[in-house]
Amino acid sequence: MKCTVCGGTATIKISRHNAAFCEKHFIEHIHRQVLRVVKKYRMFSESDKIILAVSGGKDSLGTWRILLDLGYRVTAVHINNGFGEYSDISEQCVRDFARNANAELRVFKFEELMGFEFKTALRYTRKSPCSLCGSFKRYNLNRIAGELGGDVLATAHNLDDETAFLLGNILYWHINYLKKQKPVLEAEKGLVKKVKPVIRITDEEMKTYSEVRGIRYVEAKCPYVKHPTTHFYKRIMDELQDKFPSVKGVFYFGFVDKLLPNIDERETPEVAHYCPECGYKTILSDKCFICTIKELIKNAEGT
Ligand code: SF4
Ligand code: ZN
Ligand code: ZN
Repeated sequence: MKCTVCGGTATIKISRHNAAFCEKHFIEHIHRQVLRVVKKYRMFSESDKIILAVSGGKDSLGTWRILLDLGYRVTAVHINNGFGEYSDISEQCVRDFARNANAELRVFKFEELMGFEFKTALRYTRKSPCSLCGSFKRYNLNRIAGELGGDVLATAHNLDDETAFLLGNILYWHINYLKKQKPVLEAEKGLVKKVKPVIRITDEEMKTYSEVRGIRYVEAKCPYVKHPTTHFYKRIMDELQDKFPSVKGVFYFGFVDKLLPNIDERETPEVAHYCPECGYKTILSDKCFICTIKELIKNAEGT
């Protein structure tokens, strides 16, 4: 197998691009793919301050490396959720990366941000751990990004994440979720601009990228992890990709470029207002979900 670029020995094959690469040209290929979406969807410029959410996994640490190499101004933010050993290892991976790359990092503890532990909040909701964790994550990251003066909040959702969500959202016609699957969600009152710079990169490519770059990332599973549906959709997309190598990109970017503009025009907007306590945008009729949980815990436990 020869590198498509230099003709040297290739170690990485990417069927969906009908290409094979040596390590050097694989890295360049990944950087080119990221730059392409950053420019096409006007995510950010060289002067913007990017707040990057980093969990300690391959996707977020790989994204950090890519954005730094491309010369962007990145401040990484890690929230330690207090999930025992898993959270400790995750934080360590993030701190190691920051030290090795001499990169800017801010670490926060969930309990210090919220005033209670995640497991306490779990007792006061019927949401699944992942859904609850996601709500807190979006809330806290948005607030932190604003406080740090970030122009954009970047997350490391990749092409496999987005195609799996897309499949699920289309199967059940979750129109309001579909509208949020854009590569960019523009800033609005109380919400910073959100961007997904690695949506052209697959799980496997990110894993290879992190390994090639010598990045140590957390491989342990979160103790709450339970993603049978998302994993099932990912498997379906992988099977489709085996037969039709370019299907993931065609599926997601076809949706974003051809269908999303029409959904935006035709669908009635969500009826949203702003939480009287914290100002966060909410579709609930009074306080936002986070302030509601805070109040429940305060009343019940006197915290
Ligand atoms: Fe949060 Fe679920 Fe991810 Fe664990 S697996 S960190 S609970 S979203
Ligand atoms: Zn090469
Ligand atoms: Zn609120």
